[in-house]
Parts: sequence; structure tokens; C-alpha cells
Amino acid sequence: MTPIIFDLDGTLIDVSARHYSLYRSVISEQGVEALTPDEYWRHRRAGESTIDLLAATPGVDVERFTEAWMEGIERPDWLALDEPYDGAIEIIKALQPEYELVLITLRRDRAALMGQLDALRMRSYFRDVICHGPELVSGKHLLQGVAELTPGGYAVGDTEADIELASETGRRAICLSYGVRSGCYLASRGAETVIGTLRELPEVINAAERSGGPADVDQGVALRNVHTRARF
Ligand SMILES: [Mg+2]
Repeated sequence: MTPIIFDLDGTLIDVSARHYSLYRSVISEQGVEALTPDEYWRHRRAGESTIDLLAATPGVDVERFTEAWMEGIERPDWLALDEPYDGAIEIIKALQPEYELVLITLRRDRAALMGQLDALRMRSYFRDVICHGPELVSGKHLLQGVAELTPGGYAVGDTEADIELASETGRRAICLSYGVRSGCYLASRGAETVIGTLRELPEVINAAERSGGPADVDQGVALRNVHTRARF
């Protein structure tokens, strides 16, 4: 079966409440005024991490912030703020009989991850769930287990990490412009296929499959009806 590799955060689940609320909580503890949600997400969608954007608010103790951020970001009480995007479960459920679905995330706490996938009733659709182990790696393609996955297919995600995973493992990247990064930023990082909602995904994949599989999408035939390099 053709594999479809899914990212989780910003792809299948909306992490905006968790990321912003934790940022605001930690920065407020330091007595520094937080950016508004709009400002925070403007920085994030333009390619910055939460640590990067601290430069926009002078007076923050970056080391102390980083420690608190890392301690909190995968804690179950903060994870409880995440919600699946509209149609996410329906779509993975529909794709699962025909494709080999694999979840690859840079999350480090496997127990918290699995607990969340169970709570969201998402876990059973994935043949494998690969996350960050204790080792330090510089990209998703280097995570343990990725090299053993069935080759080809698609990598679906919302950041440059997912584009890199696709290019390093020979898969077709399908990027989503509603997550942590903007469509414009993803295009600047080499994304060729950017869609604005998860509901467009089955159509993009079906079109690619009809034209002979992901490798042929570059011929430009299959995707003429979908949004490629658009919506920025
Ligand atoms: Mg993501």
C-alpha cells in the first residue's frame, strides 16, 4: 500500500490555544507583557519558533522561558487544549483502508502523545506512530524507524520540517497553509503543493494517483484543479 505520512501538530490538530496560552502564561510570570494572539501568530506563521519571537519582547529571561516552555508544551493539561481540525478524523478514517497511514511527530513524550491520540480517538488509524526519542536529531527523516517505512507516497504537514522529511525520504510533500506556518512561508521553503483545508487532501491524492502516483504530480497534469502555489 502507498504510505501517507501525517504530521500531527498544526496538521491534524489545532495547537494554537496550547501554544499561545503557554507562551502567555510563561512570559506573564516574568512580568513581561505578552504579544497579542494575532502578533504571536504573525511571527510563528512567518517561520519563527516561540523562542525566536522572544526577541520581539525585550526583558525576557530567555533561558528561564525556554526551560518552562519545554517543561510545559507536552504536558497533558496543556495538550488538553488541542482540538482536531474540522474533518480530520473523518478524512484519516476514509484514507486508512486504502493507504498505509503513519504519524511522524517531533514530540518527545511518547506516553503523553499516545494518551492524547487515544483521547482524540485517532490512534487506531495509524499503522505506526513515530516520535522523537531521547536522542538528538536534526530532522524527522533521522528519527528511529523512518528509514524502515515503505518508500514513496506522500508526506502531509504544516511546516518546513515536513517538506524536509518528504525530500529526504523521496515522498511528495503536501503542505497545509492553516497550521503553524503560512502558505507563503511554506512556498518560500520549496513547497509545491499547498492546500488551505484538510478536506482538499483526498482530492489531491486521488488526482495524483490517477496520473500514476506521487512522482508524476510534477508533470503538472494532476493538480491543475487544485490549489498549487495559491492562497497566499
Ligand atoms: Mg506540524
